[in-house]
This record gives sequence, structure tokens and C-alpha cells, in this order.
Amino acid sequence: MNSDNQLVKGYVIRNVPYGESDAIVSVLTEEGIISFKARGIKKITSKNASSCLLYAFSEFECTIKGNYKYLTRGSLISSNYQLYEDIDKMCICGLVSETILTFLPESSKQIYILFEYLMRVVNGEFELFSFAAIFIAKIIVECGYGLDVDGCVKCHTKNKIVSVNYAEGGLICYKCRENENIESPLYLKTLRYIFKVDEENYFHHVIEKPLAVRLIKELMNYLKNQYDYRKLVFCEMFFETY
Ligand SMILES: [Zn+2]
Repeated sequence: MNSDNQLVKGYVIRNVPYGESDAIVSVLTEEGIISFKARGIKKITSKNASSCLLYAFSEFECTIKGNYKYLTRGSLISSNYQLYEDIDKMCICGLVSETILTFLPESSKQIYILFEYLMRVVNGEFELFSFAAIFIAKIIVECGYGLDVDGCVKCHTKNKIVSVNYAEGGLICYKCRENENIESPLYLKTLRYIFKVDEENYFHHVIEKPLAVRLIKELMNYLKNQYDYRKLVFCEMFFETY
């Protein structure tokens, strides 16, 4: 392999067809997101097609020509095909991938590790929506918009926390509360949990699905508002489905 070649390993998080049989493929690796042109992969005879399937874990050899990278060889390691049989799994993986690609185009090692956990969840190791809520919270932290969940965002007391104000960026105490709804202790505890939980405990606590769905929706709206984004395909699908 000469210096114009690159060897990468990671998860396919986007595969956009173009032309008659080509595609642009984006791969989440430990070092960030790498995109390349994959020629001929839509042809039935393509040897590289399976490595470029959405959410496949593969190794890719690329050659660099000018401003573009081109796939020269792809080797499938794991197809994660269980995903395709389950609408919930497809929705969550679509939502997470879209959120990473939109808001963290450089990605990070932390996000890669979270995606490894997501694939374990997809393969049945843990409850899907609970982990999705954690993943979205961690993406928000990586974006630099992590909520203040250690105490009241206004007066910093840790006592009598009763609500959250996303526009203010954190929890709200009884004294500082204005128009915010009073939230249940379970909701507040869970919101704090998804921001604070560390890697060793990702699979420790199952969040009831209605609460996980509510948190995912609130966090996606919060993130979209930070960037003034309105149109996200999988995000809208999530809101319509759940
Ligand atoms: Zn306060």
C-alpha cells in the first residue's frame, strides 16, 4: 500500500447512490467520519457491495486522487443484518446516524464507542430506546450543549429541583420556576441520568419506553433549536412513528 492509499475500519452510516451504479459512502471510524466514492457497488457483480451496506462494520482500502477518496477494496466484517428486520432498530439507527452526520460532522472516538454499544443493543444486549436516549444526550454533550443537570441552572442550588428549561440549558428549582411545568421526580432523575451515566453503566438501567421517547423528542428539539435546524428526515420519522 503506497502513501496515496488509506486503510480504515468502521461503521457505514450513510450510503447515497449516484449515477447508474455508484455511491458515496460515509464511514464512522475511531478517528472520525470518512467519506469515499464507491464505484460500481450497485452492480450485481460488485465484490465490494456488501461491505458498503448501511450499518455494516467493514474494512475499506481507499485511494486518494485529488480531492476525492475512492474505494478500491471493501471487506465486510459484520453486516448487523438484524437491524433490517426491525422498524424500531432502523428508526433509532437512522436517527442517531443522521444526528451525528448533521451536528458532529467530524465525530470523535467517544461517538465511535457509543456506536459500538448501539450495535450491541441492536444485537439484543440491552433495551433500544433507553440506550438511544443516552446516545442522543451524549451527542449533545459532544456538541457543547450539555444540559446543566447538577443543580438549578439559575441559582445553582441542588435542593427542590422541580423542572427543566431547555432554553435556559438546565434544571430549575422551586424558587426560580416561572412558567415551567412541575415534572415528576422520575422524569428529572432520568434526565439527569442520561447526561451523567458513564460507559460502565450504559446497560445498567432500563427507562420506560414512553419516558425514553419523550426525552429523545425533547433532546432532538433542543439540539435542532441550538443550530436553527428544521428539516431532519429520520428525526421527523421518529416524531411521526412514536
Ligand atoms: Zn434556582
